[in-house]
Amino acid sequence: IRHLMQSTGELSFNMNTVLDDAQVTALAASFDRKVTIVAEISAEQRLESSKVEDEEAAEGDLEPRPPVVTILGHVDHGKTSLLDKIRKTNVAAGEFGGITQHIGAFQVVTETGHAITFLDTPGHAAFTAMRARGANVADIVILVVAADDGIMPQTEEAINHAKLAGVPIIIALNKCDKPNANPMRVKQQLTAHALSPEDWGGDTICVEVSALNGTGVDTLLEAIALVAEVEELKANPKAPAAGHVIEARKDPHRGVIATLLVEDGTLTRGDVVVAGMGVGRVRTMQDSNGKTLKEAGPGTPVELFGLDDVPDAGDPFHVAGDERLARAAVEERKLSLREGSQFQRPQATLESLFKETAQEKIDKTLNLILKADVRGSLEPLKVELSKLEHKEVQLDTLYAALGAVTQSDVDAAISSNAVIIGFNVLSESAARKSAERAGVQIRHYNVIYEVVDDLKAALENLLAPEQKERITGHAEIRKLFASSKFGNVAGCFVIDGVVRRADFIRIYRDGRLVYGTADKPVQVDSLRRVKDDMREVREGFECGIRISAYQDVREGDVIEFFEIKELKRTLES
Ligand code: GDP
Repeated sequence: IRHLMQSTGELSFNMNTVLDDAQVTALAASFDRKVTIVAEISAEQRLESSKVEDEEAAEGDLEPRPPVVTILGHVDHGKTSLLDKIRKTNVAAGEFGGITQHIGAFQVVTETGHAITFLDTPGHAAFTAMRARGANVADIVILVVAADDGIMPQTEEAINHAKLAGVPIIIALNKCDKPNANPMRVKQQLTAHALSPEDWGGDTICVEVSALNGTGVDTLLEAIALVAEVEELKANPKAPAAGHVIEARKDPHRGVIATLLVEDGTLTRGDVVVAGMGVGRVRTMQDSNGKTLKEAGPGTPVELFGLDDVPDAGDPFHVAGDERLARAAVEERKLSLREGSQFQRPQATLESLFKETAQEKIDKTLNLILKADVRGSLEPLKVELSKLEHKEVQLDTLYAALGAVTQSDVDAAISSNAVIIGFNVLSESAARKSAERAGVQIRHYNVIYEVVDDLKAALENLLAPEQKERITGHAEIRKLFASSKFGNVAGCFVIDGVVRRADFIRIYRDGRLVYGTADKPVQVDSLRRVKDDMREVREGFECGIRISAYQDVREGDVIEFFEIKELKRTLES
């Protein structure tokens, strides 16, 4: 450390300081040594590896954490009203005069003492947008269905998205105060969507509520607590905090204000937070009641002041031990964003499936999202596609729904790496643009058989080709020549067929295989006649063959030449 201080002129070193290239070079120079830097590790990578150490050190301290709940449902079915009711009745009134502010998320405590965190932006658009950014923050979905209206198109979409996310669904049968409310009818409809109500022997909890007068809201909250218990949601309060950005904005007076959801660990005042393009020390944080917090444990949403730049909703955040490193990493992020070299996950397309096969990076399932104009076309399409089956490759229709291709569909495609099929429908222009940006393929059709043909072809491309071997000829080694330059060169005589430079070989001695494996066939290094390089030599001719992979050839060995043909397979084969 003394050497470091002298050689760099800086004083702030300790045992854990990460040195940059210049510092390493200066330090080495003070010992009269030269350093060659062979690989540059980015600040981002160093930040990442310091995070991993933290995680390992903290294992074994898991404790139950509050669930994070989001509310989905058809427009006007009462999502906003329900959120308001929950907030007003359960946010410890009086604590701060009961004044709540919208910060994107809030926490309530049930009568039995269970904390629950609600995301404050209802609807599946927000839900899928977050998921597309890799932020799977919701643990439980509350599906609001107005009991006087029943399942509507957006209810179906919400069901699709929640199922796709693998998040448990609790049904809130809302507006039960209305005289024309018919919860039984809704339960019947739910059954048709594979959400069969608990009181009918299924496993979907349905709670009758009224967001207007508050009936059933407590029961709903207890149901959430129950599901959370079953899910065994756990986190480590002792770890450095990590989670996601729920929303963020810049206030002209107060600077960057961000709502963070702490998902693991405890966020403490003074911590250095890295969130998307923002970094900074936690100066002040408040809960959704405006109460100042010194620390925030798992499941807690906090409004935070102190970041130097506005992160995006859905950005992950975490606490960094080293502020300088954190700032360097964020600088790198900004640079790569400016250079447009941001890492983009390759999205599935019908064509890329073929390329992936060639690279042996085979994903045997092609994920699809189907959108169609009417049920009359959706159902037959589903039936036709279900016929495309094979034991090695498959189509997985994540969901099939009616209507134009929307932003939510694109977001779902991004998070599940799916291709979107639009049948007799258009794409909304925002959806089309974001699909283009993210590389999501949206394919439009209006003839069922064209969809089927294209998908069949894509699946067939996904099938590893069948390899057929054909023996082309044999050459016998008559004499070996040792060459100082090339190693052994075998003087051969082609005893049958034709031997070709491009073919693969096996070597037999006294009728027994001595060289050649099935999984990694080799070729000869050269095939010559007299002084000329040959592509092939026929039966009855002499040739010189060099095989660098196998030096132990002997006179009398027989080299077998064969070709491997790749035959495209079909679903039927
Ligand atoms: P959102 O679009 O799903 O957020 O629905 P809102 O919360 O905006 O509610 C739509 C309309 O339904 C509003 O006029 C609410 O007052 C009304 N509403 C919501 N919940 C109830 C309820 O439980 N009972 C009755 N009678 N009306 C409700």
